[in-house]
Amino acid sequence: MYFIINAYAFIRVKHLTCMANTIKKGILFVISGPSGAGKSTLVKEALDGLNNFTRSISVTTRPKRPDENAGENYYFLSQSEFKKMIDNNEFLEWVDYCGYYYGTPKSFVEGNLNKGLNMVLEIEVIGAMQVKKNMPESYLIFITVPDVNDLNERLRKRATECDEAIARRIEKAKEEMKYEKYYDCIIVNNNYNEALKNLKYVLTSESGGNL
Ligand code: 5GP
Repeated sequence: MYFIINAYAFIRVKHLTCMANTIKKGILFVISGPSGAGKSTLVKEALDGLNNFTRSISVTTRPKRPDENAGENYYFLSQSEFKKMIDNNEFLEWVDYCGYYYGTPKSFVEGNLNKGLNMVLEIEVIGAMQVKKNMPESYLIFITVPDVNDLNERLRKRATECDEAIARRIEKAKEEMKYEKYYDCIIVNNNYNEALKNLKYVLTSESGGNL
């Protein structure tokens, strides 16, 4: 079922289920979308206004960007440290993305869900499919742009990657967009405020709260 919210930004929702306020275990939300679609900014701002939600902090071997803080954006590890975590089965999911490893620490996510907190994972599509397989009760949201060509401009404006890395990310984005059909909800970010409103709406509705 698709809901068109307005002419500028729309949201397609396959199914919305309102749950009672007496949730024992938290809801696991998985948010994906092509690099440059604005998902990090949207997720950060959406969560600022919502109680009872926590964001998972991933582990990566990618170098830290100047505007990032260790333990806030990511935990930055060496390849051997990351591989040790794989061997110890410490990840809910992990992936090799554009030459670097990224993974979600299992204990943090499970611990918070068991405490009744809703968790948000902001991860790419292969990892999201792993989560859906292992935890089918999770709710998957895809944040995208109307046209893949918009990403080029957005990534250049962001200026966090060199030309070659941007080209790799655009190719990856085209692949990632093929996965949107597996998501429970798709938010098209061509109007930031509308996309934010829609994201908050879905997070709140699916976790049984009120805006
Ligand atoms: P970036 O390098 O731009 O921070 O992230 C690159 C991609 O990796 C983004 O799509 C981001 O959502 C995804 N990502 C970040 N952390 C994880 C993770 O723990 N697992 C997976 N599978 N993807 C991740």
